Amino acid sequence: MPIHHYAPALLPCKLCGEGFDHHQAATDPALTTCPTCGQTVTRIGIQTSHTPKLLHPLSVSEAKNLGFTVFKKTSAGEFERQ
Ligand SMILES: [Zn+2]
Repeated sequence: MPIHHYAPALLPCKLCGEGFDHHQAATDPALTTCPTCGQTVTRIGIQTSHTPKLLHPLSVSEAKNLGFTVFKKTSAGEFERQ
């Protein structure tokens, strides 16, 4: 489910600061009022991609699985692709 980013009309909002994120389907109508403080809000963006939350440093194999190119610093001070 995409994350919709909203910003209150009056910044900063005492309750929701400079904005808040709201999980809702892309087809749902955008919020018009802040569910926390009730003031008018504007949708400022939608984040649809899922960014994996990294709880620990990636191992080389995990990084490769995620499509990263892994480089290892060699003793000669150069970087070698693994
Ligand atoms: Zn608010």
